[in-house]
Formats: sequence, structure tokens, C-alpha cells
Amino acid sequence: MSRTVEENKALLEKYPILRQRNVYTGEPIDNNDEYTYLDAMPKGWAKAFGIPMFEDIQNEVNTWPKEEQEHFFFTDIKEKFGELRVYTSHMTDNLFNILEAYCAISRNVCIVCGKLDVPMVNRGWISPYCRDCALHADIECVDDYDDAVKDERKEIVENLLFSIYKDGKCCPQAIDISQYVKKVRDYNANRS
Ligand SMILES: [Zn+2]
Repeated sequence: MSRTVEENKALLEKYPILRQRNVYTGEPIDNNDEYTYLDAMPKGWAKAFGIPMFEDIQNEVNTWPKEEQEHFFFTDIKEKFGELRVYTSHMTDNLFNILEAYCAISRNVCIVCGKLDVPMVNRGWISPYCRDCALHADIECVDDYDDAVKDERKEIVENLLFSIYKDGKCCPQAIDISQYVKKVRDYNANRS
């Protein structure tokens, strides 16, 4: 997804958090608007949910005191073990939930083309791939792909289940992420 400088300028105006910053100092980097943090995401994910995700992050950041807003920046945005990881200079409970939600969504979105509800493919490397993109990548025959993903979940999850340890006990927790999933589905239904 390559955007023109004009398109980037419009994006940066709408979502100031997209402006590239020095990961150590947080100082804005003057790149003539040729780069935004959308470019830090693998292409398929940027296409499928980059805008909804940064919109949710921006809306959260906008509720913070001015001082904290100005010092907020991304320290890293990357793919790790087939999922999106976003690291930030500042964290709140809301921001944590947003980042966890999109991390979960990324597990079932094709990293190449952005197709929703695709399985994780584990072939030494691990990444969510749709069938078409897998066939153009390292997996050459259809049977191989079908075999590799036969036990993998394809649908994006709506509930995040995890455990926390409290007072020596394991407590199961759930975060309902259905609002984020719905947002991504609506965005993709309207995306040309
Ligand atoms: Zn694909």
C-alpha cells in the first residue's frame, strides 16, 4: 500500500500519533511526510486494520492530559511469531486492551493481502496466510497448505482468554474484543 505524500499529510493531520519519532527520545523525525507508522506494519495487516487500529489508539490518547499526549510514541511495531506486536512509550488499561485486541485480530488476517479469517501457517516460519498468498510463497502445493492448516482456527476470535496469577492462584480472565472485530469487519466490507 503506497500512499502519496498528500495522503500521508492528511493521515498525519487526522492521526498525529502516526508521525514517525525517534524510538529513544520520542522526538518527531522530519521525513517530509513520506513515512507514517502505517508503513511499519506488514502490508496485509496495514490494509485490513491499520486505520481502525490507529484510530482507536488516537482516540484513547486524546483522552489523556496534554502533557502525556505530547510524549506518547511507538517504540516498536512489528510481526513476531505470526502476530502483530505494538510497543508504546506509555500504557493505560484501555490502551492495553486495544493493543491486545488488534494483536489477536492479526492472527487471523493474511499478512500479505489482508484477507480476514485465515489460518496461521506453521512451516518453520509462522504467519497467517490465505490460500492464494501461501501458494505464491513457500508452500507450493495446495495439499501442503490444506494439510498445514487443517487443525488451525480460521475465524478471528471475539473473546480473549488468558490467565493471571493472583495470590498464588491462577485466575482465568476474558476480554471481550467483539467491538474491535466488528469495526474491522465493517471497515473491510466498505474497503474497495
Ligand atoms: Zn492473502
